[in-house]
Amino acid sequence: MKAQKKCPSCGEWSPWLQKPDDRCFYCDALLDPRAHTIEQERAEQEAENKKKIEAIVLPIHPEDGFFARLGKRVFNVVQLVFVAILSFFIWLITVMAG
Ligand SMILES: [Zn+2]
Repeated sequence: MKAQKKCPSCGEWSPWLQKPDDRCFYCDALLDPRAHTIEQERAEQEAENKKKIEAIVLPIHPEDGFFARLGKRVFNVVQLVFVAILSFFIWLITVMAG
């Protein structure tokens, strides 16, 4: 049994995969424009966060010495754990606020 959603634009019932970017089968309007906006904002936020994470991870070069590589690797792991904990709290706040 497939989910259906009434199109907010033309009023026809359209197959709905419950995804934020599902479009009307008849007029191509977004079936859930609000969810689409939220999803887009979330994706943008995620991209931004990813950029930040990438910015703080130290690149490891093959010409680095053993201790430089080890130091950078430890630094990166600590950073990643820190970011993961931070992301978890951000997620928790988002869930609790929503
Ligand atoms: Zn429609």
